[in-house]
Amino acid sequence: MNHFICETCGIQYELTDAPPESCIICTEERQYVNPNGQVWTTMEQMIEKGRYQNECLLEEEGLYSITTTPSFGIGQTAYLIQNKGFNLLWDCLTLLDEYTIKKVKELGGLHAIALSHPHYYSSQVEWAEVFDIPIYIHKDDEKWVTRPSERIIFWSGETLELTKELVLHRLGGHFEGGAVLEWKEGCGQKGVLLTGDIIQIVPDNRWVSFMYSYPNLIPLPAAKVQEIADTVKGLNFDRMYNAFHRVIKKDANGAVQRSAQRYIAALNGTLFHT
Ligand SMILES: [Zn+2]
Ligand SMILES: [Zn+2]
Repeated sequence: MNHFICETCGIQYELTDAPPESCIICTEERQYVNPNGQVWTTMEQMIEKGRYQNECLLEEEGLYSITTTPSFGIGQTAYLIQNKGFNLLWDCLTLLDEYTIKKVKELGGLHAIALSHPHYYSSQVEWAEVFDIPIYIHKDDEKWVTRPSERIIFWSGETLELTKELVLHRLGGHFEGGAVLEWKEGCGQKGVLLTGDIIQIVPDNRWVSFMYSYPNLIPLPAAKVQEIADTVKGLNFDRMYNAFHRVIKKDANGAVQRSAQRYIAALNGTLFHT
């Protein structure tokens, strides 16, 4: 019996004798199955082989990034936020080894995990059990949970205040329950938005993008992008972090608004001189 892990997306499944036939995340049109075929691993194998390590970096006061090297699965970065004695893990990673547990404990441990969307569910239940904490997932994405647990709290509606300073907002788009995290005291009280890839920071980090599928390059409709931009406009933040270690250091809300207008113009054919 084992909790098998899909190597392509890094998501862990409930306890079974044999690996599942396929991965529900990868066989869906927003992801992809490895062209060489479905490959499974386990946490024990990942740790035993010693091929992967987690790297923990201070990004700004009260905010640490945790990334697996070399890249595993989708290759996302998770963030640990320390705010007034409440430590939140934003998004999650598959690898949870002794080094990571020790490092996180040194930073004060964890009080909760909150997820942007199913692509980063990884081994979230394993983390929740080790640190004895709840997991917050939007109810609209419940069907994508591959390892059910009583620790998962499905929240609904548009907003959830974890604490006064840490607030989840559902934006949808990439996934129906796609959420971002507003950290009101980040960036020296100017506010930080952590977006996973519900809002994606592009290589020119004055701009962002919004996609239904990133690997398969499927865009979102104009109306949805406008709706996301309108919701974000009402939030107070100056800085933004995505799930791939990219940062917009200032005027991040302006970047979202400008990018949404550019994106909509592109969809409507008014951006191009053809
Ligand atoms: Zn998968
Ligand atoms: Zn995604």
